[in-house]
Amino acid sequence: MHEMGIVSGILTASVEAAARENATGINEIRIRVGELTEIIDDALCFAFEALTPGTLAEGATLLVERVPGRSVCAECGNSFNHGRFDVTCPQCESFLCELVEGRELEIESIDIDLPDENDTGETP
Ligand SMILES: [Zn+2]
Repeated sequence: MHEMGIVSGILTASVEAAARENATGINEIRIRVGELTEIIDDALCFAFEALTPGTLAEGATLLVERVPGRSVCAECGNSFNHGRFDVTCPQCESFLCELVEGRELEIESIDIDLPDENDTGETP
């Protein structure tokens, strides 16, 4: 499964980033996935749940933000959003369009748990 490798990469990067901050755990990982990547959300979540146990990200939430496809028309300069199969300029119906967004696959943010030094074992 393609998504398994993707999540594995995201997880490695996230756990490394969290470890650098001396985090005790990861609460949430937010990623941006372009509509044109053919990545399936459900498969990402499935892979995430399969790979996180035993890591800093165990029990964390994976939030997937979808980025719609966007192209700029080479004929009239119009910029427009589109799905995977309808890359045609809505203004002049040209097929000469250059994709500018929609192939993203990146970590947007990671929410980590930091050890609270002021609140350890000192409570009455
Ligand atoms: Zn156009």
